Amino acid sequence: MDTFDNECAIAARWIERYLANVREYPVLSKMRPGEVAALLPESAPESPEPFEAIVADFERIVMPGITHWNHPRFFAYFATSATPAGIAAEALAAALDVKAMLWRTSPAATELEEVVMRWLGRLLGLPDRFTGIIYDTASVGGFTALAAARESLDLGIREAGMAGRDLPVLRVYVTEHTHSHIEKGAIALGIGRDNVVRVPCDSEFAMDPEELDRALAVDAAAGYKAMCVVATVGTTSTTARDPVQRIAPIAERYGVWLHVDAAYAGAAAIVPEFRAVLDGVERADSIVVNPHKWLFTPMDCSALYVRDPEMLRRTFSLVPEYLRTPEHGVRNYMDYGLQLGRRFRALKLWFVLRHLGAEGIRERLRAHVALAQELARWIADEPGWEVLAPHPFSVVCFRYRPPELDPATASGLAAADALNERIMETVNASGEMFVSHTKINGAFALRMAIGNVQTTSDDVRAAWGILREAARAA
Ligand SMILES: *Cc1c(COP(=O)(O)O)cnc(C)c1O
Repeated sequence: MDTFDNECAIAARWIERYLANVREYPVLSKMRPGEVAALLPESAPESPEPFEAIVADFERIVMPGITHWNHPRFFAYFATSATPAGIAAEALAAALDVKAMLWRTSPAATELEEVVMRWLGRLLGLPDRFTGIIYDTASVGGFTALAAARESLDLGIREAGMAGRDLPVLRVYVTEHTHSHIEKGAIALGIGRDNVVRVPCDSEFAMDPEELDRALAVDAAAGYKAMCVVATVGTTSTTARDPVQRIAPIAERYGVWLHVDAAYAGAAAIVPEFRAVLDGVERADSIVVNPHKWLFTPMDCSALYVRDPEMLRRTFSLVPEYLRTPEHGVRNYMDYGLQLGRRFRALKLWFVLRHLGAEGIRERLRAHVALAQELARWIADEPGWEVLAPHPFSVVCFRYRPPELDPATASGLAAADALNERIMETVNASGEMFVSHTKINGAFALRMAIGNVQTTSDDVRAAWGILREAARAA
């Protein structure tokens, strides 16, 4: 027991030091492909090794190969952060090593998940009739919702499958900005990529509801069966918001499952002035919000809310004899998805919600949005730079475009793309910050996401300086 205490104590001290000094690391790892693997032996050791030796190799081999997601100048993809209370809870969950699959395999894991999902649902302004379930990611929660959407069609697919039967072709409706996990889900569920219909968007990258209506009508007349409409609140590329309040009545009219993917931006609804971002989702069948994205909870923790949890049970429940239990009226989470053993993820969300408090969360989300709006103003005011998309949350898409480049011509566009790619590579190689990119109307855009709990206005100002410096040198 002594050595075990010692191992955990070493890890606790290490975590404390890391979080205090995370700014000193290059944000993006400087390792080249294969470099980490080359430092590791070909096989696992035959004999036990001292814990200190393992930790030393963790420092020597692993740490240089880490891209620091917890660094306050991580502005790529979606900036996230694991707060200390969440990290501590994650360590406690590992110590308990619960498999939260049946109520009796840890009543607290099941009941805490029920309560914490209710808390989060209320913070988001969701009606209490929604039931929240934690999955590892929005991708898996989204897949689970798609599977339930398919089951809700009552085509007997759960029992008889789809092959060799006289079934209508099923279709899923998205936009070109919908996250790729929906298409992967359609692949896995036998829907086929050809039946993932991309509904055209308006000029602000949001689904055009009239186009959705038209696509559903045309497909219904052609004999297709609509299975699911996916609306995104905060698209991954530009954080555009599909108009859920206009999409919902259309989905209802055609009797189609509506899934709302609010993995990143849903968190904003906790702030009263952003509550409206989830307007209309009370009419959806399922909604995903990721606490591991913009709610300060360590990866992984994604909340799926469904209006009818029975539909998930109908889709996935399969109880072998050895998992039968005498309790009645309790939730067994293994019935709500593919997984049997499930991590005790509610614990870290409970710790984070309590330790920050709703007020603390609101304050931080407001600050991130304000920083992004300020950055967007600097960019818009700077000659040679331009903002490329609306920026309702904490993500800004932009590019450097000196006056001599005309992106309306093919050669000008290619030159602008190459220039901005060079700028991105230069700033990322500096180790001082990390940004990523997207394409907007075919043009390369730098994309800065603000969402780390430690990011200050000095960080954003410094990042803007580094970007301008790289543009001068490019
Ligand atoms: C990040 C993101 C996802 C994927 O989230 P995971 O939890 O990593 O699967 C899905 N949809 C949107 C809109 C996202 O921003």
